[in-house]
Amino acid sequence: MAPIILLCSLLYQLCDGQPGPPDPPGRIAVVGAGIGGSAVTYFLHQQFGPQVQIDVYEAERVGGRLATLTVNSQQYESGSPSIHSLNLHMQDFVKLLGLKHRKEVAGKSAIFNGEHLVLEETDWYLLNLFRLWWHYGISFLRLQMWVEEVMEKFMRIYNYQAHKYAFSTIEGLLRSLGGDHFVNMTRRSVAESLQGIGVSQRFIDDVISAVMKASYGQPVSIPALVGAMSLAGAQGNMWAVEGGNKLVCSGLLKLTKANVIHARVTAVSLHNSEKKPLYEVQYERDGTLGSDYYDVVIIAAPLQKTGLPISFLNFQPTLPDYAGSYHRVVTSIVHGYLNSSYFGFTDPKLFPFACILSTDSPDAIFHSLESLCPVNVSVGFRRKPPQEAGVWRVLSSRPLDRKELKTLFKSYYSVQVIEWQAFPNYSTHSSSKSLPPIILHDRLYYLSAAEWAASSVEMIAVAAKNVALLAFNRWFELTEKIDQQDLMHKLKTEL
Ligand SMILES: Cc1cc2nc3c(=O)[nH]c(=O)nc-3n(C[C@H](O)[C@H](O)[C@H](O)COP(=O)(O)OP(=O)(O)OC[C@H]3O[C@@H](n4cnc5c(N)ncnc54)[C@H](O)[C@@H]3O)c2cc1C
Repeated sequence: MAPIILLCSLLYQLCDGQPGPPDPPGRIAVVGAGIGGSAVTYFLHQQFGPQVQIDVYEAERVGGRLATLTVNSQQYESGSPSIHSLNLHMQDFVKLLGLKHRKEVAGKSAIFNGEHLVLEETDWYLLNLFRLWWHYGISFLRLQMWVEEVMEKFMRIYNYQAHKYAFSTIEGLLRSLGGDHFVNMTRRSVAESLQGIGVSQRFIDDVISAVMKASYGQPVSIPALVGAMSLAGAQGNMWAVEGGNKLVCSGLLKLTKANVIHARVTAVSLHNSEKKPLYEVQYERDGTLGSDYYDVVIIAAPLQKTGLPISFLNFQPTLPDYAGSYHRVVTSIVHGYLNSSYFGFTDPKLFPFACILSTDSPDAIFHSLESLCPVNVSVGFRRKPPQEAGVWRVLSSRPLDRKELKTLFKSYYSVQVIEWQAFPNYSTHSSSKSLPPIILHDRLYYLSAAEWAASSVEMIAVAAKNVALLAFNRWFELTEKIDQQDLMHKLKTEL
């Protein structure tokens, strides 16, 4: 707007006695510096401008579940290792921050049922297709079409967000993407949904169950939307950030000049200032307590009874009654010699796989076992063949004992174990329950609610942009940009 028009408009508002638009918030608190907290900080900065102070509280380490650990002075992904190529926010962040995609190092996969390999990938695309068809008929084609349809609908969110539309509930967001069918996908199991489109039980038992275990450590009773997201990942097109995925989080926080406070938020209380809510965030840092006041608070960390709980003191936010428990997944990073004979290869030189998934059997020791590449892949890097000592990531439901380690590895130099509260425990979420709310109180938002629809890096990045837009649109009362229905049609006619 030209300055003269702006001046006239201000004068008009003053003469008319109409209040102008409210000032932007002075201070915003973000709790958690994982991808959710870092991305929302970036999007808030984009929306409200650099004059708004954003404090980011982090109790442990920037990156959260995007994490690395060191073996022999090289770093390896110990948390979320891979990102799908259609994850457009992550792609944008990498470009914006001048980061690079890690060089891809090819490796084949197989599925193990505790006794033998039930499916083996080969170097030949056509042979792989033939094997799938031979074993499972056209189930894999049906699956592929189903996943593609879900992903295509999911991608609509980028268009809505580019036009600054936000949703006040996760259900509303999902409905805008794929109608009631998408909402129902958070209530119906992946197994049921696949059976509904004619995928065979054998394919579900052998392949889908292995992918669900490897991705979420949970069975095929997990909701269809989460299932579809992990199946999209299993179809390939995955990438990672050179130097470690967590660099996206530290990069975004640095870019926005956010004030990162290494402290654990213990409580939030409500005060009123000129009839507007003002939140007091209480925190603990190195044994000392502190607090500060904010106009807007965004919780970008799972709210659950265990872990790092946050109390709400003199007000009652609309919190889900169950708060939601999280499912434990244990990562063991083992530097050693794989016992390939456990998988039927007495000569390790002949063992051709970089990744083994396990079917969902009660006796399975592990969910997945994967040969790792460091986060910095140099030109000419090659994966260690199994006859040499390599670095392997084993995912399991509990820490592996000595006997189990000895079953999987002939010998090893080191084992580092991380116990993650990894994903929502989807089995505790009954089909009749709604998803957790995003708006907990007037200007208090719960970003991690989205994880109950699907826990993935990109889902959280999408949720971060949604929360930033929602906070902005609500602050400036841009109601026409919130919870709009039939956006597909609306945007087509707007163009
Ligand atoms: C082993 C594993 C493998 C995975 N694999 C994939 C994958 O391949 N692809 C994919 O897309 N996703 C994957 N995921 C899921 C993905 O990592 C998560 O969905 C995503 O990283 C969640 O980000 P977030 O910011 O919401 O939460 P987090 O990363 O958990 O960040 C929350 C942050 O908040 C901090 N915090 C918590 N409470 C407080 C408090 N009271 N005060 C201050 N700070 C607090 C925590 O310390 C943490 O740093 C995987 C996850 C795990 C654990």
